[in-house]
Amino acid sequence: MYPFGYQRIDTPQALKAAQQRQRGEADKAVSYLAGGTTLLDLMKLGTLAPAEILDINGLAHDYGDISWADDELRLGALVRMSAAADHPRIRSDFPVIAQSLDLAASPQIRNMASLGGNVLQRTRCNYFRQTGWTACNKRQPGSGCAAMEGVNRKHAILGVSDHCIAAYPGDFGQALVALEARVDILGFHGTRTLPFHQLHLAPGSEPERETVLLPGELITGFHVPIGPWTRRSLYLKIRDRESYEFALVSAAVAMHLDDNVIRDVRIALGGVATKPWRAHEAEQQLIGRRPDLPAFEAASKVAFAAAVTRPGNRYKVDLGQQTLTRALLQLAEMEV
Ligand SMILES: Cc1cc2nc3c(=O)[nH]c(=O)nc-3n(C[C@H](O)[C@H](O)[C@H](O)COP(=O)(O)OP(=O)(O)OC[C@H]3O[C@@H](n4cnc5c(N)ncnc54)[C@H](O)[C@@H]3O)c2cc1C
Ligand code: SF4
Repeated sequence: MYPFGYQRIDTPQALKAAQQRQRGEADKAVSYLAGGTTLLDLMKLGTLAPAEILDINGLAHDYGDISWADDELRLGALVRMSAAADHPRIRSDFPVIAQSLDLAASPQIRNMASLGGNVLQRTRCNYFRQTGWTACNKRQPGSGCAAMEGVNRKHAILGVSDHCIAAYPGDFGQALVALEARVDILGFHGTRTLPFHQLHLAPGSEPERETVLLPGELITGFHVPIGPWTRRSLYLKIRDRESYEFALVSAAVAMHLDDNVIRDVRIALGGVATKPWRAHEAEQQLIGRRPDLPAFEAASKVAFAAAVTRPGNRYKVDLGQQTLTRALLQLAEMEV
Protein backbone atom coordinates (compact mmCIF):
# COMPACT_ATOMS: atom_id res chain seq x y z
CA MET A 1 0.00 0.00 0.00
CA TYR A 2 1.05 3.62 -0.49
CA PRO A 3 0.23 6.73 1.61
CA PHE A 4 -3.08 8.43 0.75
CA GLY A 5 -5.34 11.03 2.36
CA TYR A 6 -8.57 10.05 4.10
CA GLN A 7 -11.49 12.28 5.07
CA ARG A 8 -14.85 11.31 6.46
CA ILE A 9 -17.73 13.36 5.04
CA ASP A 10 -20.65 13.63 7.47
CA THR A 11 -22.70 16.57 6.20
CA PRO A 12 -23.81 18.01 2.84
CA GLN A 13 -21.75 21.12 3.73
CA ALA A 14 -18.59 19.05 4.16
CA LEU A 15 -19.35 17.35 0.84
CA LYS A 16 -19.73 20.68 -0.92
CA ALA A 17 -16.44 21.93 0.54
CA ALA A 18 -14.70 18.75 -0.62
CA GLN A 19 -16.22 19.10 -4.10
CA GLN A 20 -15.04 22.71 -4.27
CA ARG A 21 -11.55 21.66 -3.27
CA GLN A 22 -11.53 19.02 -6.02
CA ARG A 23 -12.32 21.69 -8.62
CA GLY A 24 -9.14 23.47 -7.64
CA GLU A 25 -7.08 20.28 -7.81
CA ALA A 26 -8.42 18.75 -11.03
CA ASP A 27 -5.31 16.66 -11.61
CA LYS A 28 -5.51 14.98 -8.18
CA ALA A 29 -7.19 11.57 -8.12
CA VAL A 30 -9.92 11.58 -5.47
CA SER A 31 -12.30 8.67 -4.87
CA TYR A 32 -15.43 8.32 -2.82
CA LEU A 33 -15.53 5.37 -0.46
CA ALA A 34 -18.84 3.63 0.25
CA GLY A 35 -18.65 -0.09 1.12
CA GLY A 36 -15.11 -0.25 -0.24
CA THR A 37 -15.59 -3.73 -1.72
CA THR A 38 -14.43 -2.61 -5.16
CA LEU A 39 -12.27 0.38 -4.32
CA LEU A 40 -10.06 -1.22 -1.65
CA ASP A 41 -9.64 -4.37 -3.74
CA LEU A 42 -8.30 -2.34 -6.65
CA MET A 43 -6.08 -0.19 -4.42
CA LYS A 44 -4.52 -3.31 -2.91
CA LEU A 45 -3.87 -4.68 -6.41
CA GLY A 46 -2.29 -1.36 -7.42
CA THR A 47 -4.82 -0.92 -10.24
CA LEU A 48 -6.14 2.29 -8.69
CA ALA A 49 -4.13 4.72 -6.61
CA PRO A 50 -6.27 7.68 -5.50
CA ALA A 51 -4.34 10.38 -3.66
CA GLU A 52 -7.33 11.01 -1.40
CA ILE A 53 -10.35 9.05 -0.25
CA LEU A 54 -13.59 10.71 0.82
CA ASP A 55 -15.57 8.35 3.01
CA ILE A 56 -19.26 9.10 2.35
CA ASN A 57 -20.78 6.66 4.84
CA GLY A 58 -21.56 9.57 7.18
CA LEU A 59 -24.09 10.76 4.57
CA ALA A 60 -26.30 7.69 5.06
CA HIS A 61 -28.94 9.77 6.87
CA ASP A 62 -29.30 11.81 3.64
CA TYR A 63 -28.83 9.12 0.99
CA GLY A 64 -29.45 5.82 2.77
CA ASP A 65 -33.24 5.38 2.59
CA ILE A 66 -35.69 3.25 0.65
CA SER A 67 -38.94 5.15 0.11
CA TRP A 68 -42.03 5.13 -2.10
CA ALA A 69 -44.07 7.70 -3.97
CA ASP A 70 -47.36 6.97 -5.79
CA ASP A 71 -45.55 6.30 -9.02
CA GLU A 72 -42.01 5.30 -8.09
CA LEU A 73 -39.60 3.53 -5.80
CA ARG A 74 -36.71 5.64 -4.48
CA LEU A 75 -33.41 4.09 -3.49
CA GLY A 76 -30.66 6.10 -1.81
CA ALA A 77 -27.15 5.50 -3.14
CA LEU A 78 -25.99 4.42 0.32
CA VAL A 79 -28.66 1.76 0.75
CA ARG A 80 -26.80 -1.55 1.22
CA MET A 81 -27.39 -4.24 -1.40
CA SER A 82 -28.79 -6.63 1.22
CA ALA A 83 -31.25 -4.02 2.56
CA ALA A 84 -32.78 -3.55 -0.90
CA ALA A 85 -32.68 -7.27 -1.75
CA ASP A 86 -34.44 -8.23 1.49
CA HIS A 87 -37.05 -5.45 1.46
CA PRO A 88 -40.49 -7.18 1.39
CA ARG A 89 -42.14 -4.67 -0.94
CA ILE A 90 -39.20 -4.65 -3.36
CA ARG A 91 -39.32 -8.46 -3.42
CA SER A 92 -43.02 -8.48 -4.26
CA ASP A 93 -43.36 -5.39 -6.47
CA PHE A 94 -39.92 -5.29 -8.14
CA PRO A 95 -38.69 -8.91 -8.20
CA VAL A 96 -36.09 -8.12 -10.85
CA ILE A 97 -34.38 -5.65 -8.51
CA ALA A 98 -34.41 -7.98 -5.50
CA GLN A 99 -33.14 -10.93 -7.57
CA SER A 100 -30.38 -8.96 -9.32
CA LEU A 101 -29.02 -7.99 -5.90
CA ASP A 102 -29.62 -11.34 -4.22
CA LEU A 103 -27.74 -13.22 -6.94
CA ALA A 104 -24.71 -10.92 -6.70
CA ALA A 105 -21.50 -11.48 -4.72
CA SER A 106 -21.81 -13.02 -1.22
CA PRO A 107 -23.94 -12.20 1.86
CA GLN A 108 -20.96 -10.48 3.52
CA ILE A 109 -20.29 -8.30 0.48
CA ARG A 110 -23.98 -7.48 0.07
CA ASN A 111 -24.07 -6.30 3.68
CA MET A 112 -21.17 -3.92 3.07
CA ALA A 113 -21.72 -2.79 -0.50
CA SER A 114 -23.88 0.17 -1.46
CA LEU A 115 -26.16 0.58 -4.48
CA GLY A 116 -24.18 3.61 -5.69
CA GLY A 117 -20.91 1.71 -5.47
CA ASN A 118 -22.48 -1.29 -7.14
CA VAL A 119 -23.38 0.51 -10.34
CA LEU A 120 -19.86 2.02 -10.44
CA GLN A 121 -17.92 -1.20 -9.89
CA ARG A 122 -15.09 -1.72 -12.37
CA THR A 123 -14.66 -4.48 -14.91
CA ARG A 124 -13.30 -7.87 -13.84
CA CYS A 125 -11.04 -8.09 -16.92
CA ASN A 126 -7.89 -9.62 -15.48
CA TYR A 127 -5.64 -7.60 -17.76
CA PHE A 128 -7.14 -4.46 -16.21
CA ARG A 129 -6.91 -5.68 -12.63
CA GLN A 130 -3.43 -7.20 -12.77
CA THR A 131 -0.89 -4.44 -13.32
CA GLY A 132 1.75 -6.93 -14.52
CA TRP A 133 -0.04 -6.75 -17.89
CA THR A 134 1.12 -3.61 -19.64
CA ALA A 135 -1.40 -3.56 -22.50
CA CYS A 136 -4.71 -2.26 -21.17
CA ASN A 137 -6.25 0.83 -22.75
CA LYS A 138 -8.65 1.22 -19.86
CA ARG A 139 -5.90 1.36 -17.22
CA GLN A 140 -3.24 2.99 -19.41
CA PRO A 141 -4.77 4.82 -22.40
CA GLY A 142 -2.99 4.00 -25.66
CA SER A 143 -1.22 0.90 -24.32
CA GLY A 144 -3.27 -1.64 -26.31
CA CYS A 145 -5.62 -4.41 -25.25
CA ALA A 146 -4.21 -7.73 -24.10
CA ALA A 147 -7.67 -9.33 -24.08
CA MET A 148 -8.23 -9.07 -27.84
CA GLU A 149 -5.82 -11.92 -28.58
CA GLY A 150 -5.64 -13.23 -25.02
CA VAL A 151 -8.02 -15.04 -22.70
CA ASN A 152 -11.39 -13.49 -23.46
CA ARG A 153 -13.91 -16.16 -22.47
CA LYS A 154 -15.68 -13.77 -20.08
CA HIS A 155 -15.44 -10.68 -22.25
CA ALA A 156 -18.19 -8.73 -24.00
CA ILE A 157 -19.72 -9.33 -27.41
CA LEU A 158 -22.06 -6.30 -27.53
CA GLY A 159 -20.99 -2.65 -27.43
CA VAL A 160 -17.33 -3.54 -27.94
CA SER A 161 -14.74 -1.41 -29.76
CA ASP A 162 -11.29 -1.93 -31.26
CA HIS A 163 -9.91 -0.52 -28.01
CA CYS A 164 -11.67 -2.56 -25.33
CA ILE A 165 -13.95 -5.59 -24.99
CA ALA A 166 -14.30 -5.62 -21.19
CA ALA A 167 -17.69 -6.76 -19.90
CA TYR A 168 -19.65 -4.66 -17.42
CA PRO A 169 -19.71 -6.96 -14.39
CA GLY A 170 -22.67 -5.78 -12.27
CA ASP A 171 -26.17 -7.23 -12.02
CA PHE A 172 -28.30 -4.46 -10.49
CA GLY A 173 -27.51 -2.09 -13.39
CA GLN A 174 -29.40 -4.36 -15.78
CA ALA A 175 -32.53 -4.19 -13.59
CA LEU A 176 -32.30 -0.38 -13.54
CA VAL A 177 -31.91 -0.19 -17.31
CA ALA A 178 -34.82 -2.56 -17.95
CA LEU A 179 -37.10 -0.58 -15.63
CA GLU A 180 -36.06 2.79 -17.10
CA ALA A 181 -34.80 4.11 -13.78
CA ARG A 182 -33.30 7.57 -13.33
CA VAL A 183 -30.20 8.45 -11.34
CA ASP A 184 -29.64 11.58 -9.20
CA ILE A 185 -26.17 13.10 -9.35
CA LEU A 186 -24.93 15.81 -7.02
CA GLY A 187 -22.10 18.02 -8.14
CA PHE A 188 -20.69 21.30 -6.95
CA HIS A 189 -23.31 23.23 -8.97
CA GLY A 190 -26.29 21.22 -7.75
CA THR A 191 -28.25 18.10 -8.68
CA ARG A 192 -28.90 16.69 -12.12
CA THR A 193 -31.06 13.67 -12.94
CA LEU A 194 -30.35 11.39 -15.88
CA PRO A 195 -32.02 8.34 -17.34
CA PHE A 196 -29.90 5.56 -15.83
CA HIS A 197 -29.08 4.13 -19.27
CA GLN A 198 -27.13 7.33 -19.99
CA LEU A 199 -24.81 6.92 -16.99
CA HIS A 200 -22.45 4.34 -18.50
CA LEU A 201 -20.46 4.78 -21.70
CA ALA A 202 -19.49 2.11 -24.21
CA PRO A 203 -15.69 2.05 -24.60
CA GLY A 204 -15.38 3.56 -28.09
CA SER A 205 -11.93 5.07 -28.44
CA GLU A 206 -11.77 6.10 -24.76
CA PRO A 207 -12.28 2.98 -22.63
CA GLU A 208 -10.86 4.83 -19.62
CA ARG A 209 -14.07 6.94 -19.57
CA GLU A 210 -16.70 4.59 -18.17
CA THR A 211 -19.44 7.03 -17.11
CA VAL A 212 -20.62 10.57 -17.73
CA LEU A 213 -19.82 11.56 -14.12
CA LEU A 214 -17.69 14.70 -13.83
CA PRO A 215 -14.89 14.92 -11.25
CA GLY A 216 -16.37 15.22 -7.78
CA GLU A 217 -19.92 14.24 -8.78
CA LEU A 218 -21.70 11.94 -6.35
CA ILE A 219 -24.55 9.57 -7.12
CA THR A 220 -27.18 10.21 -4.47
CA GLY A 221 -29.99 7.88 -5.50
CA PHE A 222 -32.21 6.17 -8.02
CA HIS A 223 -35.88 6.51 -9.00
CA VAL A 224 -37.62 3.46 -10.41
CA PRO A 225 -41.05 4.06 -11.99
CA ILE A 226 -43.89 1.73 -11.03
CA GLY A 227 -45.57 0.33 -14.15
CA PRO A 228 -47.81 -2.54 -15.23
CA TRP A 229 -44.62 -4.50 -16.01
CA THR A 230 -42.81 -4.16 -12.66
CA ARG A 231 -44.47 -7.05 -10.79
CA ARG A 232 -44.02 -9.39 -13.73
CA SER A 233 -40.25 -9.06 -13.78
CA LEU A 234 -37.27 -11.30 -13.07
CA TYR A 235 -33.51 -11.65 -13.29
CA LEU A 236 -31.94 -14.79 -14.73
CA LYS A 237 -28.20 -15.14 -14.20
CA ILE A 238 -26.05 -17.86 -15.77
CA ARG A 239 -22.57 -18.33 -14.30
CA ASP A 240 -19.80 -20.89 -13.92
CA ARG A 241 -20.95 -21.83 -10.41
CA GLU A 242 -24.23 -21.21 -8.66
CA SER A 243 -23.03 -18.73 -6.08
CA TYR A 244 -20.46 -15.99 -5.51
CA GLU A 245 -19.75 -15.60 -9.21
CA PHE A 246 -20.19 -12.96 -11.89
CA ALA A 247 -22.56 -13.51 -14.82
CA LEU A 248 -21.46 -15.12 -18.06
CA VAL A 249 -24.84 -14.04 -19.36
CA SER A 250 -27.82 -12.51 -17.59
CA ALA A 251 -31.21 -11.13 -18.51
CA ALA A 252 -33.32 -8.60 -16.63
CA VAL A 253 -36.83 -8.78 -18.08
CA ALA A 254 -40.20 -7.20 -17.32
CA MET A 255 -43.51 -7.59 -19.14
CA HIS A 256 -46.99 -6.18 -19.25
CA LEU A 257 -49.16 -9.07 -20.31
CA ASP A 258 -52.84 -8.42 -20.88
CA ASP A 259 -55.40 -10.80 -22.37
CA ASN A 260 -52.48 -13.07 -23.30
CA VAL A 261 -50.94 -10.34 -25.47
CA ILE A 262 -47.59 -8.66 -24.74
CA ARG A 263 -48.49 -4.97 -24.35
CA ASP A 264 -45.01 -3.92 -23.21
CA VAL A 265 -41.73 -5.70 -22.51
CA ARG A 266 -38.35 -4.55 -21.19
CA ILE A 267 -35.12 -6.49 -21.76
CA ALA A 268 -31.62 -5.72 -20.47
CA LEU A 269 -28.64 -8.04 -20.90
CA GLY A 270 -25.65 -8.53 -18.61
CA GLY A 271 -22.33 -10.40 -18.82
CA VAL A 272 -22.30 -9.95 -22.60
CA ALA A 273 -21.96 -6.19 -23.02
CA THR A 274 -19.59 -3.37 -22.15
CA LYS A 275 -22.35 -1.53 -20.25
CA PRO A 276 -25.82 -2.42 -18.94
CA TRP A 277 -27.42 -3.25 -22.28
CA ARG A 278 -31.01 -2.60 -23.34
CA ALA A 279 -32.24 -4.84 -26.16
CA HIS A 280 -34.71 -2.44 -27.81
CA GLU A 281 -34.97 -4.27 -31.14
CA ALA A 282 -35.85 -7.53 -29.40
CA GLU A 283 -38.52 -5.73 -27.38
CA GLN A 284 -40.08 -4.28 -30.53
CA GLN A 285 -40.38 -7.80 -31.99
CA LEU A 286 -42.48 -8.89 -29.04
CA ILE A 287 -44.95 -6.06 -28.54
CA GLY A 288 -48.43 -7.09 -29.69
CA ARG A 289 -47.45 -10.79 -29.93
CA ARG A 290 -48.63 -13.82 -27.96
CA PRO A 291 -46.12 -14.92 -25.31
CA ASP A 292 -44.98 -18.19 -26.91
CA LEU A 293 -41.74 -20.02 -27.60
CA PRO A 294 -41.41 -19.09 -31.32
CA ALA A 295 -41.85 -15.39 -30.50
CA PHE A 296 -39.29 -15.56 -27.67
CA GLU A 297 -36.75 -17.47 -29.77
CA ALA A 298 -37.05 -14.99 -32.62
CA ALA A 299 -36.64 -12.01 -30.28
CA SER A 300 -33.61 -13.62 -28.62
CA LYS A 301 -31.91 -13.99 -32.01
CA VAL A 302 -32.53 -10.31 -32.70
CA ALA A 303 -31.04 -9.37 -29.31
CA PHE A 304 -27.68 -10.86 -30.31
CA ALA A 305 -27.70 -9.99 -34.01
CA ALA A 306 -25.04 -7.28 -33.54
CA ALA A 307 -22.66 -9.48 -31.52
CA VAL A 308 -18.94 -9.21 -32.31
CA THR A 309 -17.23 -12.34 -31.06
CA ARG A 310 -13.77 -13.81 -30.60
CA PRO A 311 -12.90 -17.50 -30.40
CA GLY A 312 -12.95 -17.43 -26.60
CA ASN A 313 -16.37 -15.83 -26.19
CA ARG A 314 -18.27 -17.01 -29.28
CA TYR A 315 -20.30 -19.39 -27.08
CA LYS A 316 -21.99 -16.36 -25.51
CA VAL A 317 -24.23 -15.86 -28.54
CA ASP A 318 -25.92 -19.27 -28.13
CA LEU A 319 -25.88 -19.10 -24.37
CA GLY A 320 -27.27 -15.56 -24.46
CA GLN A 321 -30.12 -16.49 -26.80
CA GLN A 322 -31.05 -19.49 -24.69
CA THR A 323 -30.86 -17.47 -21.48
CA LEU A 324 -33.12 -14.74 -22.83
CA THR A 325 -35.64 -17.25 -24.23
CA ARG A 326 -35.75 -19.03 -20.87
CA ALA A 327 -36.16 -15.76 -18.96
CA LEU A 328 -39.05 -14.70 -21.20
CA LEU A 329 -40.78 -18.07 -20.86
CA GLN A 330 -40.48 -17.91 -17.06
CA LEU A 331 -41.78 -14.37 -17.12
CA ALA A 332 -44.85 -15.27 -19.17
CA GLU A 333 -45.66 -18.09 -16.73
CA MET A 334 -45.23 -16.00 -13.58
CA GLU A 335 -48.19 -15.68 -11.21
CA VAL A 336 -48.68 -11.97 -10.46
C1 LIG B 1 -15.52 -11.49 -4.76
C2 LIG B 1 -16.54 -10.53 -5.29
C3 LIG B 1 -17.64 -11.01 -6.01
C4 LIG B 1 -18.56 -10.12 -6.51
N1 LIG B 1 -19.64 -10.58 -7.24
C5 LIG B 1 -20.53 -9.69 -7.77
C6 LIG B 1 -21.63 -10.13 -8.55
O1 LIG B 1 -21.83 -11.32 -8.79
N2 LIG B 1 -22.48 -9.18 -9.03
C7 LIG B 1 -22.32 -7.85 -8.78
O2 LIG B 1 -23.13 -7.04 -9.23
N3 LIG B 1 -21.28 -7.42 -8.06
C8 LIG B 1 -20.39 -8.30 -7.55
N4 LIG B 1 -19.33 -7.84 -6.84
C9 LIG B 1 -19.08 -6.42 -6.77
C10 LIG B 1 -19.74 -5.78 -5.58
O3 LIG B 1 -21.14 -5.87 -5.71
C11 LIG B 1 -19.27 -4.34 -5.61
O4 LIG B 1 -17.92 -4.36 -5.18
C12 LIG B 1 -20.05 -3.44 -4.70
O5 LIG B 1 -21.40 -3.39 -5.06
C13 LIG B 1 -19.48 -2.04 -4.72
O6 LIG B 1 -20.14 -1.27 -3.74
P1 LIG B 1 -19.31 -0.52 -2.62
O7 LIG B 1 -20.30 0.31 -1.86
O8 LIG B 1 -18.49 -1.46 -1.84
O9 LIG B 1 -18.42 0.40 -3.55
P2 LIG B 1 -16.97 1.03 -3.29
O10 LIG B 1 -15.93 0.00 -3.41
O11 LIG B 1 -16.98 1.86 -2.05
O12 LIG B 1 -16.93 2.03 -4.54
C14 LIG B 1 -16.90 1.52 -5.85
C15 LIG B 1 -16.61 2.69 -6.79
O13 LIG B 1 -17.69 3.60 -6.84
C16 LIG B 1 -17.33 4.89 -6.34
N5 LIG B 1 -18.48 5.32 -5.54
C17 LIG B 1 -19.07 4.62 -4.53
N6 LIG B 1 -20.22 5.23 -4.16
C18 LIG B 1 -20.34 6.32 -4.96
C19 LIG B 1 -21.34 7.33 -5.09
N7 LIG B 1 -22.45 7.34 -4.34
N8 LIG B 1 -21.17 8.30 -6.03
C20 LIG B 1 -20.06 8.31 -6.82
N9 LIG B 1 -19.07 7.38 -6.73
C21 LIG B 1 -19.24 6.39 -5.83
C22 LIG B 1 -16.05 4.69 -5.57
O14 LIG B 1 -15.23 5.84 -5.60
C23 LIG B 1 -15.42 3.53 -6.34
O15 LIG B 1 -14.78 4.02 -7.49
C24 LIG B 1 -18.41 -8.72 -6.28
C25 LIG B 1 -17.33 -8.26 -5.53
C26 LIG B 1 -16.39 -9.14 -5.05
C27 LIG B 1 -15.24 -8.59 -4.26
S1 SF4 C 1 -10.61 -5.55 -22.54
FE1 SF4 C 1 -10.48 -3.41 -21.85
S2 SF4 C 1 -10.00 -3.64 -19.69
FE2 SF4 C 1 -9.45 -5.60 -20.65
S3 SF4 C 1 -7.31 -5.43 -21.33
FE3 SF4 C 1 -8.57 -4.74 -23.03
S4 SF4 C 1 -8.63 -2.52 -22.72
FE4 SF4 C 1 -8.05 -3.39 -20.77
